[in-house]
Amino acid sequence: MKILVLNAGSSSIKYSLFAMNDRRVLLNGILERIGESIAIHRYHVQDAEPVNLEIPLANHQQALQTLFSTLADSGAIRNGELACIGHRVVHGGELFKQPAVITAEVIEQIAGVIPLAPLHNPANLQGIKESMRLMGNVPQVAVFDTAFHQTLPDYAYRYPLPADLYIDHGVRRYGFHGTSHGYVAKQAADFLGKPLTELNLITLHLGNGASACAIENGRSVDTSMGMTPLEGLMMGTRCGDIDPALHFYLSRSVGLSLEAIETLLNKQSGCKGVCGENDMRILHDMADAGDQTAKLALSMYAYRLKKYIGAYVAVLGRVDAIVFTGGIGENDSRLRRQCCEGLSALGIVIDPDQNQAPDQTCSAIHSTDSTVKILVINTQEELEIAVQAETCLDALR
Ligand code: ADP
Repeated sequence: MKILVLNAGSSSIKYSLFAMNDRRVLLNGILERIGESIAIHRYHVQDAEPVNLEIPLANHQQALQTLFSTLADSGAIRNGELACIGHRVVHGGELFKQPAVITAEVIEQIAGVIPLAPLHNPANLQGIKESMRLMGNVPQVAVFDTAFHQTLPDYAYRYPLPADLYIDHGVRRYGFHGTSHGYVAKQAADFLGKPLTELNLITLHLGNGASACAIENGRSVDTSMGMTPLEGLMMGTRCGDIDPALHFYLSRSVGLSLEAIETLLNKQSGCKGVCGENDMRILHDMADAGDQTAKLALSMYAYRLKKYIGAYVAVLGRVDAIVFTGGIGENDSRLRRQCCEGLSALGIVIDPDQNQAPDQTCSAIHSTDSTVKILVINTQEELEIAVQAETCLDALR
């Protein structure tokens, strides 16, 4: 069985084709700069040289036509071989607690959630609509970033705000990166040889965006991102938790417009705001060369992360494992060490040697006297979307 996973953004579409029998990637690629005069199509067919093309792509329709032609021309799928298309959808609101087979009604429901994710859902939806138009004969499934966190209890997801804002306007915490948190939790359970339903985990997805998740008996009970992906940890360009009254100050005293504040907090803050860079590799190089702003940004990042680890130990009571994942979580040994430093009282002790070079897919980096296991797991969100799409279709058969 072959499943295609699509992640449609406003100007790019990422895709991966999986052979589900052995979960191999047969072909993956990205169509970028859709709508600009010259777009780029980069793809890689398994066991072949990567391809990099400059082509005109006026819109998502042309981009998807190109994608489906590539799948056919490369021989990656032959007639009737594509069993399903899985679509990443950022926001499912409270409606979607599970993946959903795409129907006209589901499309309408995803559109209904657009006010909650105005930057992401419209592009996801555009990808879905075009894909349904071009490949309507293939079953298609929407997999939501928010769904994994729909198990949060009300005292964790509600904001201390007037109730009608929640009831009438959906103002609450939703959480994101759910596909990744859910995937690494399952991998951790496999690695530890225990049922997920018996495990308490703290999963840390640290990429350009970053979030922490408290998982109790396999279910998400708290997570650091909120109504939007701006809340929580300090990130590459997003501020994470700040005093909400800052907005008034930025408006009244600094004279920034609402739009300027939105851009500032989402795109010019976090590591970039503190030291001018948001790639952790560059931050470390700068810090090694003596740059004080980069040192400060790294200390702030680790400190804020450590506070969430402490908070989630309190939430869970017993923690079986902490899982690091995402580009930073998987690769940045110094940051892992820094945010676990001084946590031996909580039973969290890293092994410096194991931490240095963890295995590519899953490995343990805790010391023998650590009561909490510390794991580094390579997240595979696209594969997880394919697996969830397959499971969703199987349930209907
Ligand atoms: P996204 O959230 O866009 O999926 P990734 O999970 O790929 O991002 O993470 C990207 C980030 O991972 C980069 O910005 C970079 O800071 C970090 N990163 C990648 N490799 C390393 C490394 N070897 N050391 C430290 N950080 C790294």
